[in-house]
Amino acid sequence: MKRILVLGSLNMDLVTRVPRTPVVGETLPGGDLQMFVGGKGANQACAASLLGGRVAMAGQVGNDVFAQRITNQLHSAGVDTASIEQSHSPSGTALILVLPHGDNLIVISPGANADVSRGFALKAVQGLEPGDLLLCQLEIPIASVYAALAAAKQEGVITILDPAPACELSDQLLACVNILTPNQTEAALLLGDATPPEEYPQAESAARKLQQRGPRTVIVKLGARGCFVVDTDAAFAQHGFPVNATDTTAAGDTFNGALAAALANGEALPQAVLFANAAAALSVTKPGAIASIPNLKEVQEFLASHAAAS
Ligand code: ADP
Repeated sequence: MKRILVLGSLNMDLVTRVPRTPVVGETLPGGDLQMFVGGKGANQACAASLLGGRVAMAGQVGNDVFAQRITNQLHSAGVDTASIEQSHSPSGTALILVLPHGDNLIVISPGANADVSRGFALKAVQGLEPGDLLLCQLEIPIASVYAALAAAKQEGVITILDPAPACELSDQLLACVNILTPNQTEAALLLGDATPPEEYPQAESAARKLQQRGPRTVIVKLGARGCFVVDTDAAFAQHGFPVNATDTTAAGDTFNGALAAALANGEALPQAVLFANAAAALSVTKPGAIASIPNLKEVQEFLASHAAAS
């Protein structure tokens, strides 16, 4: 089994329910505070590990009470936390106010995530061997992501980039990516398109244009429609699984973690995409981020029941 290194963000999400949007100057009583470990890096590392991967996480937490809690969560999901370091900044946090009908207001404070330097990133990828996987997102400085992707690709590591949160990227950076996995908004922003791709033909066209900028494989994630994949020798839609979606938080993170786990275990791309699509579909049936990630057995049973039904 190949190894997976996730280089990315680690956050503590601080969530409280409010009866309505507070106005400037107002002090509004809210519900009990809830704390969840989050950040795209942490979510994807947990997903890859819970879904059968051998995973290490590299990133930075703060010099505060959240640090141990974040590291413990990853550890209990089976992730190797030896490359999580403590910076002098506070831990990354997301302050989340949830309104009665589920809409939310979110303020992200990057904290220690912003301290992940090029030097740290280069050190983190040093032990990787050809065929291992590097999984990155964009919640740490882009220069550090670029340094890690470039160094890893040079060594024959398979580089996967989830270009989230949406951000413009240089061709230089995209040339260091083997597998790019934008959602609809991210694909549109990367291409400078006004409208996100909705149907498969538009997603295929977006994926082909992104492929021309460097990545061998582009997977456009399409929510309930599943995803569209363009590879060097194949282009195909993977239909979404019909599920009762209640909370899509971390669906994309579950998809990416599952994809990395399946590829690290030697699955071919179409099987890995099917597995990722099933894992992400199961994640939207449960509330929360890491709490919504299914385990390997649940995904295997889900796939078996769908194979039997078709
Ligand atoms: P992101 O979470 O990054 O915005 P998407 O919303 O496209 O990305 O979701 C990622 C993946 O999660 C999709 O490609 C699909 O596999 C799965 N997914 C998301 N929403 C649903 C849904 N309503 N039903 C089934 N699968 C879903």
